[in-house]
Amino acid sequence: MRPYPFTAVVGMADLRLALVLSAVAPAVGGVLVRGEKGTAKSTMVRALAGLLPDVTVVRDCRFSCDPAEPDAECPDGPHPDGATGRTRPARLVELPIGAAEDRVVGSLDLERALRDGVTDFQPGLLAAAHRGLLYVDEVNLLPDHLVDTLLDAAAMGRVTVEREGVSVTHRSRFVLIGTMNPEEGELRPQLLDRFGLTVDVAASREPAERAEVVRRRLAYEADPDGFAARYTGSEAALADEIAAARALLPSVELTDDVLVRVAEVCAAFEVDGMRADIVTARTAAAHAAWCGRTHVTTEDIRVASRLALPHRRRRNPFDAPGLDEDTLDDALGDGPEPDPDPDPDPPGGGQDDSGPGEPGSDTGNSGDADAGDAGDSGGAAGPPPPDDGEAGGGGEQRIGSGSPYRSKLFTVDGTGTGAHGRRSRATTDDGRVVGVWPGRQRPRGARPHLVATVAAAAPHQQAREHTGPGPALRAQDLRWARCEGKEGNLVLFCVDASGSMGARSRMREVKSAVLSLLLDAYQRRDKVGLVTFRDRGARPAELVLPPTASVEAAAARLEDVPTGGRTPLAEGLLRSAEVLRVEALRDPRRRPLLVVVTDGRATSGPDAVARSQQAAALLAESGVASVVVDCESGRMRLGLAARLADHLGAEHVPLGDVRADALAGEVRQRTERTERTERTERYRRAS
Ligand SMILES: [Zn+2]
Repeated sequence: MRPYPFTAVVGMADLRLALVLSAVAPAVGGVLVRGEKGTAKSTMVRALAGLLPDVTVVRDCRFSCDPAEPDAECPDGPHPDGATGRTRPARLVELPIGAAEDRVVGSLDLERALRDGVTDFQPGLLAAAHRGLLYVDEVNLLPDHLVDTLLDAAAMGRVTVEREGVSVTHRSRFVLIGTMNPEEGELRPQLLDRFGLTVDVAASREPAERAEVVRRRLAYEADPDGFAARYTGSEAALADEIAAARALLPSVELTDDVLVRVAEVCAAFEVDGMRADIVTARTAAAHAAWCGRTHVTTEDIRVASRLALPHRRRRNPFDAPGLDEDTLDDALGDGPEPDPDPDPDPPGGGQDDSGPGEPGSDTGNSGDADAGDAGDSGGAAGPPPPDDGEAGGGGEQRIGSGSPYRSKLFTVDGTGTGAHGRRSRATTDDGRVVGVWPGRQRPRGARPHLVATVAAAAPHQQAREHTGPGPALRAQDLRWARCEGKEGNLVLFCVDASGSMGARSRMREVKSAVLSLLLDAYQRRDKVGLVTFRDRGARPAELVLPPTASVEAAAARLEDVPTGGRTPLAEGLLRSAEVLRVEALRDPRRRPLLVVVTDGRATSGPDAVARSQQAAALLAESGVASVVVDCESGRMRLGLAARLADHLGAEHVPLGDVRADALAGEVRQRTERTERTERTERYRRAS
């Protein structure tokens, strides 16, 4: 069945352009497509492969070496000069997010290597994608170890597989294309930065366009080949244009003037590092070539900025995507066109009365939000509600949070087996080797432990018929490495939103703490959930957010949580217990961490205190790891939250101690810096 043609996709101009530009200039670095389900984004990506120029590869090379310049280290090599080539279409290789590491990087048959002294390497997906497209659908759900593999390959243009001293390496240069639904969780910043361009897509709201989408889809499904045949001409024409632009690209001149203007735009959007400048310049050049020009215009830079900058200027995952057009206009300025050009004028060149584009007008982010009622720096939606001064009664108010900060790390004790993440200790298929498993059966994800295997075989060498260069191995000698890494957890927040917490500045501080912990959970790849409790008759405790990987959703819900009323602590704890029970059925390997945010007071009904102690004991019995963030303030302290922590068997943390201390932060930063330097060094040596 023929795939849906690229030129048959209706609308989606930005995505079309981004994909075409990355086909014209693979060095742009690929495209990340963000959008809800059902927007034909995958269809379009898959159709792109058909438009790429064919590649010529060395015949019989499984690693797609170019006959003109074969890889000196190719496992199928060395290839002789003038090796015969064959021409084949460029490939689109899909990387399924559940793929085993061996399938991605390739697999090395260790038994053969040891027994026969032969390096038997089966190429993986990264070999298949060399000189083509690598497509990851739901790239935001890709497990960490695969993300690292992908980042390494993308950075070095090469894959290296090392297993117990045997090493294989081959080239792997591909255009990385990812699609994701941001509602299902965000992408790790390092991976986000790897994508040259990003595009946000949404289904059209235009009835006529929607009807056309459906009409074509139905026609395609009824007769895929016939439908595709109708677009053969337009597909071929587009492929020719891409090939022509590719041929023109080396002649496009990136003058100093253009580079300075690109730098000005990047500076205006406060992007980090030089990568943004490089990608923007390359994209502008690709756009010029696409338009059939060899000089770069303001419009090229504008188009490039829109595609290359949005994801680089995002400071934290809660910021809205997109690029502010006013800032872009200002940055591109009223300066003269680098070269006069008949292209359509940029919309709304430079108005003279557009005052609010002033940079720094709302950046009062001093990072110091604990001075009581500091200004609304978090950019919460809407004006703050009128302060009716009613703290303890039934009054309801909405109080936004202050700015988030870096929080202390809370972990679950013991060793889990959960999904890859960065919070608690876990048995994983990578990470540090901490022990050995015996047995013929390979434990889930484990890799062979060579030394232990040879040691197990050694005593039997005389008894076994010993031929061949390696030691005589039997299946029962096999030993597997037991590795330890980190897992993500389910962090369930159980937040007291009652009147006792209602002092305005206090609630803001509480929300800042929870927001900071949410931000931390995002970086550690946890799932999060939010239960709030306050006395409102029918629903004293509410599951405001069911467990999800979307920290943005959690942050948004947190902002909306109203406060007021009495304190049904027991109900809050019981609701949390129920949420955890259900989630344990759904995702049994993910260990929970319950974070109870309260001053410990329970004031709903005469037996409120006793009931909340029972609820706490119940949670403790179920073995849930928990933390009590103690929000009690004032001179007269009752220490109720500390007592609650006792009943829960929880760590007790005063609200002020949620913030990671400055010294620890500095040490961590320094470590990260060292790691980064080492990584860079590794790349440099490898390339
Ligand atoms: Zn080769």
